[in-house]
Amino acid sequence: MRILIQKFGGTSMATEQTRTDVMNKILEAKKKYEGVVVVVSAIGRLGAPYATDSLLHLVNHKHTNLSPREVDLLMSVGETISSLIMANTLLDQGHKACALTGGGAGIMTDSHFNHAEVTHIHTKPLMTLLREDTIPIVAGFQGVNVDRHVTTLGRGGSDTTAVLLGEALEAEAVEIFTDVDGIMTADPRICKSAKIINTISYNEVFQMAGSGAKVIHPRAVEVARRAGIPLIIKNTFSEAEGTSIMRHIGPTNKKTVDEQIITSIAHISDRVQFSIFGQIDDEKFFTDLAKENVSIDIINIFPDRKVFTIEEHCKNKVIHLLEAFGAEYSLIEGCCKVTVIGERMTGVPGVMAKILRCLSKASVEILQTADSLSTIACLIREKDLEIAVEALHEEFMVSEYVSK
Ligand code: ASP
Ligand code: MG
Repeated sequence: MRILIQKFGGTSMATEQTRTDVMNKILEAKKKYEGVVVVVSAIGRLGAPYATDSLLHLVNHKHTNLSPREVDLLMSVGETISSLIMANTLLDQGHKACALTGGGAGIMTDSHFNHAEVTHIHTKPLMTLLREDTIPIVAGFQGVNVDRHVTTLGRGGSDTTAVLLGEALEAEAVEIFTDVDGIMTADPRICKSAKIINTISYNEVFQMAGSGAKVIHPRAVEVARRAGIPLIIKNTFSEAEGTSIMRHIGPTNKKTVDEQIITSIAHISDRVQFSIFGQIDDEKFFTDLAKENVSIDIINIFPDRKVFTIEEHCKNKVIHLLEAFGAEYSLIEGCCKVTVIGERMTGVPGVMAKILRCLSKASVEILQTADSLSTIACLIREKDLEIAVEALHEEFMVSEYVSK
């Protein structure tokens, strides 16, 4: 059976009108596929009555006496309500639909409440409905453990539900519907020339998520990559093609630095750079840093100094430790990291040279860099962020590659 999974987020569930838009997307898909399985998130964001954060606020969850199991039961309600009202919308219009909890849809998890892992999916309940030509509307973000207690999969987990169902049902694709036209080449709030990306690889989306871009839940991308299922990010409220996330993006022949080798530019703020001069017990220092739960972002070690970058909120811990070690050090606050991402840059000479030229022309000082096969990150000052992203975007995004 040719199956498609469609997942709709909280903004798509918000009103009768948006649910009608959702219904139309489902009915369009029904024309092309033999089976369509729908996964839904809780309605709206904090403030909306059944949004996950609103439910958590009802019990002041940071200080609640409810057990993690009970908090999961509470959190799961938002998605359950969405599945019921979405099924109701379809039934009202004479379509065959059926609301299911995660457990009802056969999603089995371990017992790590609040961040459970899916251990197995019984496909029978969904396959039975599909064979009857009924549209299953599954509550995202939840499953059940062996004791039949409801579990949740971690915040943002509905995307993961959709992809796991796609894997279990051997779906042709998983469509993730949201309220934007797709993944963008840069954050449109700081980069006016940002465009929608047509196709991007799983790896590049991972890199984007890890470099500060809010795209799609990384766990969902991980499962999609494992299953080799294309993931398509689409807008419930437009006809845009969306962004397809897949294994390979076009021919991988040798490229030059002037071709389209960069897919996106991500950025992340609130970084602090430390430099340590002279000798300290490195091994002990970095071990103690780890014990303090400080994660290092970029690090370069030279014989006479060490330079590393951390998240702003860890700054005081690092200062205390440096003082305790009697280290001679300096720090630069108010930094951010800009990362250019593109699998096709691997092995292409001149990418760094181009970045250096571009940022120097924009009078942006680079404080530190880090690179991998498919990324180059530059630490810069926060005040230079917009100018740097705009300049790099201008330099690397070849116009004919991106749509709109
Ligand atoms: N409603 C859940 C959350 O807010 C799951 C999701 O939206 O994917 O985290
Ligand atoms: Mg979400």
